[in-house]
Amino acid sequence: MNRIAAAIALPLCVVVALPVGARAEEACGDPEKALGVSRIVEIDTTTGPLFGEFTKYEKEPRFLGPKEVVLTFDDGPMPRYTKPILDALDEFCTKATFFYVGQMAVAYPDMVKEVMGRGHTVGTHTWSHPLNLRRRGLNSAKDQIERGIAAVELAAGEPIAPFFRFPGLSDSGPMLAYLQGRGIAAFTVDVVSNDSYISSPSRLTTRTLQRVEQQNGGIVLFHDIKKSTAKALPAILKGLKVRGFKVVHLRNKNVVAPLPQLTEALKAKQEKKTAKSTDAEGKPELKPFYAAIATNTLEADDSEPSVTVIAPEARERVKGGASSADLNPPTASEESTPSKKSTSSKRRSRRNKVRASSASKQIEPVGSLSSAVSGRF
Ligand SMILES: [Zn+2]
Repeated sequence: MNRIAAAIALPLCVVVALPVGARAEEACGDPEKALGVSRIVEIDTTTGPLFGEFTKYEKEPRFLGPKEVVLTFDDGPMPRYTKPILDALDEFCTKATFFYVGQMAVAYPDMVKEVMGRGHTVGTHTWSHPLNLRRRGLNSAKDQIERGIAAVELAAGEPIAPFFRFPGLSDSGPMLAYLQGRGIAAFTVDVVSNDSYISSPSRLTTRTLQRVEQQNGGIVLFHDIKKSTAKALPAILKGLKVRGFKVVHLRNKNVVAPLPQLTEALKAKQEKKTAKSTDAEGKPELKPFYAAIATNTLEADDSEPSVTVIAPEARERVKGGASSADLNPPTASEESTPSKKSTSSKRRSRRNKVRASSASKQIEPVGSLSSAVSGRF
């Protein structure tokens, strides 16, 4: 063991040797107000499952029980808001899933590392967050999905979860079939906080808690690029605790392998940038020291919440299945050429949009699905 490894291992042993109660108290500050993690759901994404209410496609049965929530944050990272959000989650000793945009991750790689180091799960949300992916054509959509994965994985410096969320929740059969072929799980949502529109933290708190209660829990959507979210989160977490809600933490059983040519292209771009800025700054990149501590300590903890492993069976999302061409990763020549298939999928999605918004009236009184499909998330 070298000197650095020994230095890391020593404090780890001390932490693990503490009684569970003392550690929880230390980690969570005040156990009375700690929301904690009641259960871990570990997802095997091999079959490309689809979770959440806001989709018209055939999805997996709800894996959450009554009064269980999953906290999710999209669009970041953005340090000025991601950091206080992480602090609030730590204060309440709870965990979340972050769906990150490739361009943001590349801009703030240390923030991605910190999110993962603090024990949260990181999935992806495309490369540049196009407002309606299905309008762009399948090849462009595939490129957005893949470039996002390559960028977030590169920023993380370690494998990430094969978890994906469509911007604006605008999924489509061919795109879902592509994700299935890649063994990636797609997540929609059950509860929309509407933090994209509400700038008052107190209004956001009240509305989010109301919606969570109306739906009796579910997958909750926030954004870690919003000031109101960062400000409201402590009150929202407190409100969830007071109302008896439990947080379920999602974890990935497997990882996603980015397309090597996209990773190489991003690395080459980064190297070019670094070569330009090294003379001026020349600082080595700092990695958060607590990465190893947070994950290893949790793994070894007897008080670790119970783990439910989900390995959903394969499902057909589009009748007749997707053509093998749909399942191929994008090639450089395909990237910007919308195919005939994409035109028909556009027509199909327009039809689906009408069906989806009428279905949403029964499921979701808030009208959030219609906001979602118009590309606001
Ligand atoms: Zn988004």
